[in-house]
Amino acid sequence: DAQAMEQAQEDMSARQIDVVRLGYSDLIGTERGRDLLVRRFARTVGDGVAFCRSVYGTSPMGDVIDIEGGLSAGLPDVIAVPDLSTVQDVPWEPGVAHMIADVFDPDGTPSQESPRNVLRRVVERFSSLGMRPVIGPEFEFYVLEPCPESPTGWKRYGEGTGNVYTAGYKGDPENTLLASLRRLDAYGLDVVAANHEFASGQFEINLWHSGALDAADRAFRFKTAVQELARMRGKLATFMAKPFNDEGGSGFHVHFSACADDGTALFDDPSGQDGLSMVARSAVAGMLAHAPALAALLNPTINSYKRFGPDTLAPWLVDWGLDNRSAMVRIPPERGRAARVELRLGDASANPYLGIAAVMAAAYLGIRDKLEPPAKLEGYGYDVDKAPRLPDDLGTALDALTADTELAEMLGPRFVAAFVAYKRNELERFSRWVTDWEFREYAYHL
Ligand code: GLU
Ligand code: MG
Ligand code: MG
Repeated sequence: DAQAMEQAQEDMSARQIDVVRLGYSDLIGTERGRDLLVRRFARTVGDGVAFCRSVYGTSPMGDVIDIEGGLSAGLPDVIAVPDLSTVQDVPWEPGVAHMIADVFDPDGTPSQESPRNVLRRVVERFSSLGMRPVIGPEFEFYVLEPCPESPTGWKRYGEGTGNVYTAGYKGDPENTLLASLRRLDAYGLDVVAANHEFASGQFEINLWHSGALDAADRAFRFKTAVQELARMRGKLATFMAKPFNDEGGSGFHVHFSACADDGTALFDDPSGQDGLSMVARSAVAGMLAHAPALAALLNPTINSYKRFGPDTLAPWLVDWGLDNRSAMVRIPPERGRAARVELRLGDASANPYLGIAAVMAAAYLGIRDKLEPPAKLEGYGYDVDKAPRLPDDLGTALDALTADTELAEMLGPRFVAAFVAYKRNELERFSRWVTDWEFREYAYHL
């Protein structure tokens, strides 16, 4: 309300904040926003800040994609209303605070395309079971530096010197990772650890677990912040799923558990199979049962499907196992309050709100229907006769999402229609694009 806006304006001015960056996630998880002068904050915001609806229908390259109520309806407004509770000063941008907005249609109803609203819907479903999901996100990403000789214009930062868990200057010669960790912490993201990954220039940062909306907000801000911090050093941080043919992809692993309204942890059961409760087992079963549709949201790009494969530590089959990193769902060895499930399906290109909403929706359906998981994986997770394969490509995953009416109903049918339309457009544009692979394969020999 107006009084709260005035108060926020006063508080920010008192802290020497003169600009609020009001941002929110589009369909693919990139930030859309505006910088607002704090001096005019309450007046500018009023009942909300208007944006053109193309925020939900433009590709990274700027193509306007016709989702329902979009271009064909003349691109009407959407209204962004700051969630004042999310205010956070940006440590590397003195005088700037960041706020996350909730997005509404002009008639005042929450926009169904808004990823934050999609997640809220799923959280509410858990509330009706008397449960609160707990989410711990982990992201891998590559840091690149300019290289005019390379066909892409970029090469991996620290190329050739780092390996998994290489610590210090050997793998991070300019302290890019270390400096990022400190700044992300100062930004209130509750990051806990950073490490070098398998490829040089590839890193992982882990966020502490919390309630679903808070964890997704932090994950959303995290991705933008990592990119911003790299840009400030003339580098490019990319969450693309599989940027290089000969190196591993970047995962977005989601640790998931739930507690009761009174805080009791619900995944631990010393007398249950593997020390897990029925709720935990059913959550796993839900993730497996809905895996092909989940892939559409957790592996949302054409490139995502090139990350899957034998011996990658990314999954390839729809399976689960105890402390097994070759399975799609890994049960980490801790029990008690730390008993949890790690879904390793997602890649870093996923929109954190949608990825987390999808994991939770699948778990919810498993819990609600008291599903039993299939036999767990023992040993090597890349034998095709052991379990079904994940979708081979984005088109197949989109088909699965469209066919999975239970999951689509939970996420919101209008959202799913918009997401699928957006992604079909991506497939369509790609299908007509001649790639460097085709030139190498055909140009000299045919
Ligand atoms: N990079 C792997 C993935 O894409 C994960 C490697 C790891 O377990 O750290 O999921
Ligand atoms: Mg990792
Ligand atoms: Mg992990």
